Amino acid sequence: MAKRLLSNMAGPRTIAVHGGERPDPATGASSPSIVLSSTFVTEGPEAFSAYDLSADTPYLYTRWSNPTVDALAAKLALLEGAEAGQCFASGMAATAAIFTTFLKAGDHAVVSDVCYAAIAELARDYLPRFGIAVTCVDASDAAAVRAAVTDRTKLIFVDTPCNPLLRLSDIAALGTIAKEAGALLAVDSTFATPIATRPLALGADLVMHSATKYLCGHGDAIGGVVVGAADLVAKLRADAAIHFGGVMSPFNAWLIARGVATLPLRMKSHEENALAVARFLESHPAVERVTYPGLPSHPQHDLARRQMSNFSGMIAFQVKGGAAAGRTTAHRMAQNLGVIHYAVSLGHHRSLICWMQTDELLASSFGGSPGSEAAYRAWAGDGLFRLSIGLEEAEDLIRDLDACL
Ligand SMILES: *Cc1c(COP(=O)(O)O)cnc(C)c1O
Repeated sequence: MAKRLLSNMAGPRTIAVHGGERPDPATGASSPSIVLSSTFVTEGPEAFSAYDLSADTPYLYTRWSNPTVDALAAKLALLEGAEAGQCFASGMAATAAIFTTFLKAGDHAVVSDVCYAAIAELARDYLPRFGIAVTCVDASDAAAVRAAVTDRTKLIFVDTPCNPLLRLSDIAALGTIAKEAGALLAVDSTFATPIATRPLALGADLVMHSATKYLCGHGDAIGGVVVGAADLVAKLRADAAIHFGGVMSPFNAWLIARGVATLPLRMKSHEENALAVARFLESHPAVERVTYPGLPSHPQHDLARRQMSNFSGMIAFQVKGGAAAGRTTAHRMAQNLGVIHYAVSLGHHRSLICWMQTDELLASSFGGSPGSEAAYRAWAGDGLFRLSIGLEEAEDLIRDLDACL
């Protein structure tokens, strides 16, 4: 049977469908089978240590590697233009893998002061217990990141567009700062996806995704992935996957790979719908402010146009009347929305919305210096709705929101 390797000229839609996959050599099956086996029969005795792992170690045990999970990692590495990828049980497992593999006691990390809440808490509250110093800064301000770097800085970690503000970081500028400092730049690209932004081409060393979101796209599997240079990914695999053990299940990898096949098409529709809904919200009298990278009113619209070839499907908006009005509107939405689900998470084919009150978030996840709290308020006011636009008809989403505003 023909080997069918993807040419390196293949475009994203072709990679999304075929990357990492080939017809089953035994059966000719066109669609990939799921290899659920936890162990593998070998030709002879094999080593038992993660340190003995090499590129030609055969499949031994699914925590080490598994063909179905590897196929997804290869597909995502190809989409990001990376040499290699490693899947994890969740986006948080992938993030923890980056922190624990590339930082040790005595090191320093610079982390975006506004990012996914659990990441902000992990960096700020947990890493210092292991002797790792962390400075949280507004990563949309490259000068602030540069000022935070010390001679012990080993990692700069940012997400762009950031959750939940949709504030952007200039990856190329941060890549230069990281290079000068001899530190790694890791980018959480969950909101952007490889269809919008390819951080490695802009100077990042590692890209992390919560595969639970757009990559899976259907809200039915949790997973995470990190892609980058082969030597960095090999270290992640030995240090974090094999030793910490937070690996992706083959079943989830199969579901997520099925989702990735339609990622380029879905992102097109997410963007088209989001633009229509963002314009509607911007014209609604009850709405105070809309933040969407694709709108000219976004304070970093120029950077968004430079760095994103798709503006994705995430919208943040505030209603007039402050926190009290926000909370009341959130209750009304939870009770009355007909199409949109009032729920956390994002990137699904179903639209999802949730209310995020500023005081609560500053008291828990994003608390820090008075400067970063003021910067957060400048974007979020007293609270914002985080709206993940799905694949429904834009008119139905608009009617649904209009009835609750
Ligand atoms: C959801 C999310 C995470 C965490 O991923 P899980 O798969 O839920 O562990 C990290 N970063 C961003 C931006 C996310 O949206």
